Amino acid sequence: MAGSDRGDLTRTAILALLGTVGPLSRTEIARELDVSPATVTQLTRELIGHGMVEELDLKPSRGGRPAQRLGLVGSAGRALGVKVTADHLVLVDVRLDGVVLGSWERPFDPGSPDAAGDLADAVESTLSTITGVPPLLGVGVGVPGSVDDQAVGTVNAPTLGWQAMPVGERLRRRLNLPVLVENDVNALAAAERIYGRGRTHRDFLVLTIGRGVGAAIVADGRVYRGARGGAGEFGHLCVDPQGPLCGCGARGCLEAFVGSAGLLAAARAAGSPAADRLGSVADLGRAATAGDRVASRVFAEAGEVLGRATAGLVNVVDPEVVVVLGEGTADWPFWQEGFDLALRAQLYPGRRDIAIEVEGWDETSWAQGAAALVLATPFDAAGAAGEQGRLVRARLIGTKP
Ligand SMILES: [Zn+2]
Repeated sequence: MAGSDRGDLTRTAILALLGTVGPLSRTEIARELDVSPATVTQLTRELIGHGMVEELDLKPSRGGRPAQRLGLVGSAGRALGVKVTADHLVLVDVRLDGVVLGSWERPFDPGSPDAAGDLADAVESTLSTITGVPPLLGVGVGVPGSVDDQAVGTVNAPTLGWQAMPVGERLRRRLNLPVLVENDVNALAAAERIYGRGRTHRDFLVLTIGRGVGAAIVADGRVYRGARGGAGEFGHLCVDPQGPLCGCGARGCLEAFVGSAGLLAAARAAGSPAADRLGSVADLGRAATAGDRVASRVFAEAGEVLGRATAGLVNVVDPEVVVVLGEGTADWPFWQEGFDLALRAQLYPGRRDIAIEVEGWDETSWAQGAAALVLATPFDAAGAAGEQGRLVRARLIGTKP
């Protein structure tokens, strides 16, 4: 391997370490990466020169001189994140340290004859309003479906009516920027990897509840994608073969019970007093809060179904922690008891104390996950984002690709 290639790899590894672990001294970096202190001194001097790494406070050390710690510069780069839904787009402009600089919502019809072109139009017109520093590293797109490869970006998404939609190719051609496309729940997991649980855990599950139900599996520090990028379709686990028909065409999927449409159907069937005023799950949540016992029972039963299914997934994957995200978490207090009881009852002995962490949710969270696809790339020493990841790193370091 040429010396400069080795230097590139080590620079990426240093960024990866600082991005996932947080500030470290040069000695700690050398020890963690198993390279010589002289190499670390030289490469970090370059990274400081490029404005990507900065010297922070002095960390007291026993006996010797206090050690200078190094950290990432949050303003060294930014990315645009795009979340595609069945009727609109959410776009966010996010800095390397996760700070949101701006957000937009645009109407979108995935069924239009040139949906990929419409998507490119929306992204292009948003980008035209973003100027100056920090430099834009690329565009990340999160979709409710499976994606062959982040760096290619061909999408299969039944809920959008998309089959082999060349999203990545069309956007790259139009924007002349690195573009990464990924399943939206996997994108959230990418954000958790660099800004959340990934800093302290190598094995965790991300579950999402809301319109659909999804999961992402982070195993040994990486998002597990499966053979076709379709891993984690937790919503289509069959919980009752006689159950309601699911959007995927099968019967009795988890999502058909606990996704938004399933909850509303259950409330109507159970004769909730608010049944004729239920336009959304938010209405059902308001009814439960106002004391409608039927509404709160619908959530509790959904919690039970989700808890049982989650126990199965935890038994198979053996994560350290489960993070619950998504629009549906707004009503989590009504899900929780049913969920906890069903989960603990079905967990394999020794795993019954697993932590379930429900996070605050914001309407831009999905799009922030999509931006994290790009922002995580410099920290991905394994190179999972392929050629597009190399282009992102080149834009960050400011050298020609
Ligand atoms: Zn299904």
